[in-house]
Amino acid sequence: MRSRTPEDLAGRCPRCFLPLSLCLCAEVPCVTTRTELLIVRHHKETLKSTNTARMAELAVPRCRIVSYGSPGAPFDAAMLEGEDTWLLFPDAHQAPEPGAALPKRLIILDGSWGQARRMVQRVPALRRLPGLKLPPPPPDSRRLRRPPHPDGMSTLEAIAGALAHLEGEQVAEPLYALHERMIERVLASRGRGL
Ligand SMILES: [Zn+2]
Repeated sequence: MRSRTPEDLAGRCPRCFLPLSLCLCAEVPCVTTRTELLIVRHHKETLKSTNTARMAELAVPRCRIVSYGSPGAPFDAAMLEGEDTWLLFPDAHQAPEPGAALPKRLIILDGSWGQARRMVQRVPALRRLPGLKLPPPPPDSRRLRRPPHPDGMSTLEAIAGALAHLEGEQVAEPLYALHERMIERVLASRGRGL
């Protein structure tokens, strides 16, 4: 599979997973957010060079990734508990209380749309979280593969969109720019684009 990176990361940057000649690390912004982000990433995403959640974690100090579905490592749903924790998911089961304060912490599911739906089916704690829904992105956005969200966003775009909504465009803008740069580099590593 083209986007799967060899486990030894031969010739690739161990942080951004891009080929060393295209390493993006020096250009990753530091985006300070009020909201804490917890990305629940399907374990099959872990080694993919096209995984945009990795970029979010590099750019946002208050962003952390935990793995879901790793063989022999049960998911600890207790980490989803917490005051003012919402789920970024178009089909969230719960609506926020009318007039509720904005979330202090946002859970983001990272995987294919089917993987994300199954996570919600299998982890009851996800279904108890109030959902944050975003307006769809512009249809002309470039992407590396079929987006994980039915609205057509990569995980990094979805995070940028959520932060634009919660904290303002100035917080989201460096993340959208990072998404563009990542796409350029991945396409360049495949010998086209730029
Ligand atoms: Zn790098």
